[in-house]
Amino acid sequence: MISTVLPVYSRADIAFEKGEGMYLVSTEGRRYLDFGSGVAVNSLGHAHPHLVAALKAQAEKLWHCSNLYRVPGQEAVAARLIAHSFADTVFFCNSGAEAMEGVIKLVRKYHYEAGHPERNRIIVARGAFHGRTLATIAAGGQEKHLKGFAPIVDGFDRVAYGNLNELRAAIGPHTAGILVEPVQGEGGIVPASLDYLRALRAVADEFGILLALDEVQTGNGRTGKLYAYEWAGITPDVLGTAKGLGGGFPLGAVLATEKAASGMTPGSHGSTFGGNPLAMAAAGATLDILLADGFMEHVQKMGSLLWDTFGRLVKAHPKVLEDQRGAGLLQGLKCKVPNTALNKALLDRGLLAVGAGDNVERFVPPLIVEPAHIAEAAEIIDAACKELAA
Ligand SMILES: *Cc1c(COP(=O)(O)O)cnc(C)c1O
Repeated sequence: MISTVLPVYSRADIAFEKGEGMYLVSTEGRRYLDFGSGVAVNSLGHAHPHLVAALKAQAEKLWHCSNLYRVPGQEAVAARLIAHSFADTVFFCNSGAEAMEGVIKLVRKYHYEAGHPERNRIIVARGAFHGRTLATIAAGGQEKHLKGFAPIVDGFDRVAYGNLNELRAAIGPHTAGILVEPVQGEGGIVPASLDYLRALRAVADEFGILLALDEVQTGNGRTGKLYAYEWAGITPDVLGTAKGLGGGFPLGAVLATEKAASGMTPGSHGSTFGGNPLAMAAAGATLDILLADGFMEHVQKMGSLLWDTFGRLVKAHPKVLEDQRGAGLLQGLKCKVPNTALNKALLDRGLLAVGAGDNVERFVPPLIVEPAHIAEAAEIIDAACKELAA
């Protein structure tokens, strides 16, 4: 008999009752150190007092009113995102896939309104992940996500991630834009080189096409800058983000320049729930902390510490670990054993992490992580690797 909840996940047989900072507590009362953050979502850990207070206060006033009216919370959050990014305008939605749908629509509409409706194809990268809607599985191009869901949405041309020659060769009269993740997340924590990102900007300018970034996972401080493109010293034309933006509240956003967004006019796009007052209260409180003096430096420091720690672990366990990858607090250990085996061994010892593609185990702790948590995680990983090597 089918489970009451549609069985589309392979879930661990564990349920959590509450969270406290870096830890989750299961219904059986066991404490787990959380280096998964609900897949890079709980950017400030669990039950952060500032977020709880903001959400409680808003919950007593107004949850939802629709986008038929002005939503002051949207104006405030958008203004802060704009002040701290390349963007001139922001669209709010509820998830990463929805943000990327918005990005794809915006790219197409830009050229349509500019008198080039034939420019409607987007160059995407092999190994990408952009979400689970029909357009975003087509953009991601993974067979395991597409199988059985034909007809596949058209309009995506795929090239090798990081290969500039292949990308240039794929540009034609129908090309509207380029879409990549600055660090491929689900694909196995694969960072693009900063030179590649700079070259994408130059190529987009050369051909008059838009540079779109998927910062659903890399955004909102995950790599130690508010958005990962900052590391390359470039700006995109449009960017989709979500995961960490609401600190655990479902929220996505499309950030765009005025020029790139010029085709988006009243009626051209929308969302019933997107940017409702509750979501905006969560995002506002999250941004208070992400944008506080010294917080990104903290993320950078913890990222370096985690990197050095993983370096030692890779050296110490050559039978289990092959390599390390990542940026900031988005890091992965490429495994020689199945990553599912490492994941289970960590879980058994009270450490939560997340699998990724290419047999990589992903570590995305809340950005509030401290050295003691990294040391605790390292001990657990060390013990798990010893067991797996035996
Ligand atoms: C998670 C993710 C998405 C999809 O986000 P959802 O909120 O699950 O729809 C899209 N792109 C990237 C890079 C992601 O990591």
